Amino acid sequence: MKKSNYRCSFCGRNKDEALILVAGIDGHICDNCVEQAGQIIEEELNSGRLKDDFSLPESIVPKMMKKHLDEYVIGQDEAKKYLSVAVYNHYKRLRQRIEDDVEIEKSNIIMVGRTGTGKTLLAKSIARFLNVPFAIVDATVFTEAGYVGEDVESILSRLLQVCDYNVSAAERGIIYVDEIDKIARKGDNPSITRDVSGEGVQQALLKMLEGTEVNVPPHGGRKHPEQKMIKVNTHNILFICGGAFDGIEKIIARRCNTQVIGFNGDEKDKIDRDNLLQYISQLDIKSFGLIPELIGRLPVLTYLEPLDAKTLRRIIVEPKNSLVKQYKKLFRLENITLHFEDDTLDYIVEKALAFNLGARGLRSICEAIMTDAMFELPSEKNVTEFTVTLDYATKKLSKSKINKLKMAS
Ligand code: ADP
Repeated sequence: MKKSNYRCSFCGRNKDEALILVAGIDGHICDNCVEQAGQIIEEELNSGRLKDDFSLPESIVPKMMKKHLDEYVIGQDEAKKYLSVAVYNHYKRLRQRIEDDVEIEKSNIIMVGRTGTGKTLLAKSIARFLNVPFAIVDATVFTEAGYVGEDVESILSRLLQVCDYNVSAAERGIIYVDEIDKIARKGDNPSITRDVSGEGVQQALLKMLEGTEVNVPPHGGRKHPEQKMIKVNTHNILFICGGAFDGIEKIIARRCNTQVIGFNGDEKDKIDRDNLLQYISQLDIKSFGLIPELIGRLPVLTYLEPLDAKTLRRIIVEPKNSLVKQYKKLFRLENITLHFEDDTLDYIVEKALAFNLGARGLRSICEAIMTDAMFELPSEKNVTEFTVTLDYATKKLSKSKINKLKMAS
């Protein structure tokens, strides 16, 4: 081959067009392609996609996980502790070598607590800390095979999607199944048709929670005969289930009372009736309508406290990406320093409680108060500081739709 005919084997540039042409055994590469390849490698390394060989660093202990959760989630100490230990044990289990007959079993978790108390946030925050693939699925969309709705297998499609179909990464991920209470068996006498989304779905979930090979439709939805399936082993996937279990307090109260009567009268007085969830046991979940086999595969049970005014007040300010911090940042990007008066924050909490919106409501109330300012201030060049006073907040909220809606109801 004549010297001038040398070409980059990647892009085809000849020697005259390239700054440098590096020779290999059977080809050449130009400086341009080297640079591009370098960028691709860097992106891949930083994406975390190549870290399939996941193992928790030895130095991570449950207390560290709780500390991380504290940065994002206010209160809920009991749930944080249970979650940290369960997750820690889960990853210890992944490392286990079975020398004796003792096999550490999976520690899937079930969290019970009213909506908007931080169940999803806890699951999301722990997954972020561990840097593992994480998917949230809603149990209400699942139906038994043969009915309209999604097959249970599509849970895994979501997980595959978040990690770009890297099966081995997905196989070490965390799945949060929301509204698990909605697939409870509806009493002993369900409708004459079948219990479409109840027991059948629970049965379908069983195997997946325990660990099995599942054929997953890559794009979710219903299985389709012509669709190519991806095989995923769920043995090392941690499942965290959450639900509000509306009305379970009554079941707990009944159980606590019957246990107490005839034993020790004083015990009865010790029961904190305002927060019965703290006494929750697997028995109550069973009475609510989850089948015992499913409960057996969710061995870690914990609860979340209802959010009181003090906690809500902390939620607006303290978490790493609290609402106040987010608004301040938005304004800072406009070169405006934003302040909230203490009274304003108290007022927002008071309204969230009055509207019975919980922590989720804090955001809509703040939006109602802040939208006008966010609309007007960017066009006013001289403003460098803005304080949200109680008076301002009251005026804006009273005019907003959210207030009118609540007044009407
Ligand atoms: P759940 O899953 O229990 O229904 P979420 O975790 O989705 O509730 O909470 C809804 C939102 O409310 C969260 O995104 C978060 O902003 C806020 N929130 C709820 N509970 C807490 C908490 N304990 N600490 C901080 N923020 C919270």
